[in-house]
Amino acid sequence: MSIDLSRFCCTVRKDLAVPFSVANGTAACNGHLVVWVDQPCETRVEGLLPTKVAGYVMHAKEAAALDGDWRRMDALASTFDPCHRCSGSGHVHVVTCDECDGDGEFRHGSHFYQCQACYGSGECVESGDASGVRCRECCGTGKAQQLVPGLIVTNAMRERRGINAIYAEQLRLLPHAEICTALVNDCFPIRFDGGVAMLMAMRA
Ligand SMILES: [Zn+2]
Ligand SMILES: [Zn+2]
Repeated sequence: MSIDLSRFCCTVRKDLAVPFSVANGTAACNGHLVVWVDQPCETRVEGLLPTKVAGYVMHAKEAAALDGDWRRMDALASTFDPCHRCSGSGHVHVVTCDECDGDGEFRHGSHFYQCQACYGSGECVESGDASGVRCRECCGTGKAQQLVPGLIVTNAMRERRGINAIYAEQLRLLPHAEICTALVNDCFPIRFDGGVAMLMAMRA
């Protein structure tokens, strides 16, 4: 079965915009998670990125081979507040910011100030409904940034960590996805039919 990794790509960073070849498979990354599948990939990326991502994949594969407290992701709670940016629709219509004409900042002499109307993005949300572009705040899920209830763990530094509900919603769609409660480098290992993933833990 072929798994589409495009939903795990980053809509902002160009180097993470498409899945690429890592460790004899295909990986996608959005800065918060890495998903790897055992499928060949033609797209190659230069520089340190593939090496870095390969490190996460290696740790995920090591964790996946071990027994531990693995939880089925489709059994995790999934009632969440709506995303404030798109009002829960997952999509928005954006217009160029009036205040800064889309620059996102103002120049005053040699100083730059972030536009407070658009928080530096250069655009403002006009309305949220399904016919617009994918909302970057919630990755199109329509859900607010919050932790999944009932899955808070403690890391080696005795700090409380949880899972961002938005990424949990995306990852639970992978076939038979399971998440391990034992953190590896402050990431939750995930395994599923055909691949592995690592999800960065959130402060709880
Ligand atoms: Zn949203
Ligand atoms: Zn602005």
